[in-house]
Amino acid sequence: MNNRLAFSEAPGIEHLRFANSFANAFADSPAAYTRLAPTPLPAPYLVAASEQAAQLIGLTPAACGSDDFIQTFSGNRAAADSQSLAAVYSGHQFGVWAGQLGDGRAILLGDVAASDGGRLELQLKGSGSTPYSRMGDGRAVLRSSIREYLCSEAMAALGIPTSRALSVIGSDQLAMRERPETTAVVTRMAPSFVRFGSFEHWYYNNRPEQLKTLADYVIAGFYPELQAAANPYQALLAEVTRRTAHLMAQWQAVGFMHGVMNTDNMSILGLTLDYGPFGFMEAYDPRHICNHTDQQGRYAYNQQPQIGHWNCFALGQALLPLIGSVEQTEAALSNYQALYGAKLDELLHAKLGLLTHQADDDKLLDAMFALMQGSHVDFTLFFRRLGNLRLDGSGGDETLRDLFIDRAAFDAWALQYRARLKLENSQDHERKLVMDASNPKYVLRNYLAQTAIERAQEKDFSEVRKLQQILENPFDEQPQHAQYAELPPDWARGLEVSCSS
Ligand code: AMP
Ligand code: MG
Repeated sequence: MNNRLAFSEAPGIEHLRFANSFANAFADSPAAYTRLAPTPLPAPYLVAASEQAAQLIGLTPAACGSDDFIQTFSGNRAAADSQSLAAVYSGHQFGVWAGQLGDGRAILLGDVAASDGGRLELQLKGSGSTPYSRMGDGRAVLRSSIREYLCSEAMAALGIPTSRALSVIGSDQLAMRERPETTAVVTRMAPSFVRFGSFEHWYYNNRPEQLKTLADYVIAGFYPELQAAANPYQALLAEVTRRTAHLMAQWQAVGFMHGVMNTDNMSILGLTLDYGPFGFMEAYDPRHICNHTDQQGRYAYNQQPQIGHWNCFALGQALLPLIGSVEQTEAALSNYQALYGAKLDELLHAKLGLLTHQADDDKLLDAMFALMQGSHVDFTLFFRRLGNLRLDGSGGDETLRDLFIDRAAFDAWALQYRARLKLENSQDHERKLVMDASNPKYVLRNYLAQTAIERAQEKDFSEVRKLQQILENPFDEQPQHAQYAELPPDWARGLEVSCSS
């Protein structure tokens, strides 16, 4: 008889119990996924692990550095009970139907219990080729793995829905990109990795029964409240439309640019998903394109909201056979603009410390963005420093004013802004508290990521870890880290990020 207590003071990964909910739900749909094991990663080492992400699945910080952890999340050792797989999906890339894509370098390990009572799927990214790899090698380079890791955790700390990143495990194995680069595996976590493109896959392959299985799986698992709706598929589309509209507003309000908003990168849960050539707005230009590969600017900053809507239409097209009619489908999509506008309005009011809504607020905001554009003002610094402005004009705003080339134009705007604040009897101290909780001091600027990546490529991972910790509290002053909130240095101007990763 085994009478050892199933108890450990430091729960390690041996305590993770993998279920295979996705695999089981599609067990009768062999075309939905391919069961396979990750390709081993030679001589893996820990680059970084997020303690906050680990906590979400009940892992202690001590468990994160263990050999067990490294072996499991490099894909070298199968976790007990895990039936790993790669899933199929399709999608529209840059507005064009791209046909079948799928997990070309991601492998789903299964789902585990989350500390909040829900469940989280764990997925290895960069863990070797799959039947969906097409021309790719199934690997991810250290550079892009660090970027995904840092940004996933930074977005979560900003309060923006996102997949999470548990760890980056590196290796000296090389993959060929523009030049040879070392590879890594990121472990991502989300309740589900189903994408808009997962639905499009069955629709365009004319497989209505598979489409229904997928929609029923998503509704039962992630939107159970919709089961009672008169038309649950229409309700699903309406809810995904709402979440997507809100997500777009949150991206715009923090200056986040995704870079590759293809339908295969759109989460059915409304999460930020598939971090590639993303960026945060620095010198404000609404037409800014963060992805060097996107020469037409389809996914420029100011295009994101309407692309979000376009992508919901693509999902609506795929769900049409289940919803039943074009009219019902269009009705589910029709609130997007209003939902987006209302959410953005709410977020911008908070960013300006405005508690009420007045008729002329749009004019004040338009004038502000025009000024920011004219002076190429840094997006994050502007909003953070705006919180220091005092109503009686007794200073506090010198460093804010310094951001503008045209100081007189700024002064004129600041007069209007002060008048607007007085209208609602705004109090400096209270307003600053609200504004500091809405305007992050720290975001993942490209140059910060780049510095951490270059150090990591020299095997010094301290900067990745430090940066991740700073970005865990983006709204806190953290005076000891103030240089991480500064403008990008001159060398960063030439930084380019592209789809190559
Ligand atoms: P992305 O643009 O990163 O969202 O990728 C689009 C598609 O290409 C997805 O199906 C990815 O799995 C696949 N893919 C991207 N990079 C690779 C790679 N290095 N090896 C295999 N598949 C890849
Ligand atoms: Mg993708």
